[in-house]
This record gives sequence, structure tokens and C-alpha cells, in this order.
Amino acid sequence: MSDVEYLKSQLTAHPDFPKKVESTLGIVFLDIFPILRNPLAFETLITHFLHHLTSHTIAAAPNKKIDVVVGLDARGFLLGPILALRLGAAFVPVRKQGKLPGVCVSATYEKEYGTDSFEMQADAIKPGQTVVVVDDLIATGGSAKAAGELIAKQGGKTLEYLFIIELMFLKGGAKLDAPVYSIVQSD
Ligand code: 5GP
Repeated sequence: MSDVEYLKSQLTAHPDFPKKVESTLGIVFLDIFPILRNPLAFETLITHFLHHLTSHTIAAAPNKKIDVVVGLDARGFLLGPILALRLGAAFVPVRKQGKLPGVCVSATYEKEYGTDSFEMQADAIKPGQTVVVVDDLIATGGSAKAAGELIAKQGGKTLEYLFIIELMFLKGGAKLDAPVYSIVQSD
């Protein structure tokens, strides 16, 4: 079994989570936590991302390195720091509004019902630094787009957006200013 098939086999699907919606789309929540509960699967996941980043992303980077890994609230916080440490990069969190101390930059994004705001500490990224963004899943791409705006506001250069899962039918990647890399593509 390939590592992609192995990781896919660990995911679990939960219909009607976090709430039941009247829709013909048949929305299912895909849970990544079984991967984190299994040390072999978690190591496979991190090694897969690192292999991609070192063989592809860093090779194409203007400064031939990744300076910053940005993780999105909340499951991006579980992946980002590990990738950052192994790459020798900084880890920077993007959090929901009001959670980070000091001066912050903010960006608004569309949610299913209304809007929400993401924030990053204003001195977290220096102009010209190269950045990758990580989260567990991309759906509409709204939250990743807001993170990209926060990086651009500070003069950072986003090289790539990384996800375990990409919901292809929502075409979220089309909203973003850099390519998407996803391990599992779901229809
Ligand atoms: P987007 O902003 O792309 O529409 O939504 C992505 C965000 O919603 C991510 O932070 C992700 O964690 C969360 N999300 C939405 N649907 C799912 C899902 O089915 N599974 C998981 N694990 N996260 C989801």
C-alpha cells in the first residue's frame, strides 16, 4: 500500500457533524485525528509532507529555503510546529480574532453563516521571507485565503498551501495566491 493509500485508510467520515444541514450535497466531516492517534500514520504524514517540501517546494523557492511555517487555527497547530522544527523554520500561528496579544494584522473571511476574522502578530513575518501555510483540510478556501492576505500584508511570500485533504468539488485552491499541495483529494 502506498503512503497516500495508507493515510487515506486512516481517515473517518462523520455525516451530519458538527450539525445536521438540510442539503442534497451529503456533507460529511472527515476526521484526521485517527492519524494522530497512530504513531506510524502520524510519522508517515509528517515524512510525506517533508519529502514533498524538500524535493519540490524548497527546490523552487527563490531563497532555496522555507523561512516560516504558518499554521491555521486549530488543527494547523498540530502539524505546523513539527514541520517547522524539522525544516529549521519559524512557526507562526494564525488565530481567530482576539486570541493573540500585542499588535496584530487581521483579515476577514466568509463562513457558511456570516463572516469571521483571522489574526497574526504584526511582527511575525519579515518582508521577503518565504512561507508555507498548513491546515488539515481545504474546503471553500476562505480561511486559507485570509491567511495568505495576512502573510502578504507583512511582505511575506507564500510558496504553497499544504493540506492533508482537499475537497476538490469546492475548488478552494482557485482563490489562493500560490499552489495547493494535498495528500488526499476528496470529491
Ligand atoms: P474553508 O475555509 O476552506 O471553507 O474551510 C476549511 C476549514 O474548515 C479548515 O480549518 C478545516 O479544519 C475546517 N473543516 C471544514 N470541513 C472539515 C472536515 O470535513 N474535516 C476537517 N477535519 N476539517 C474541516
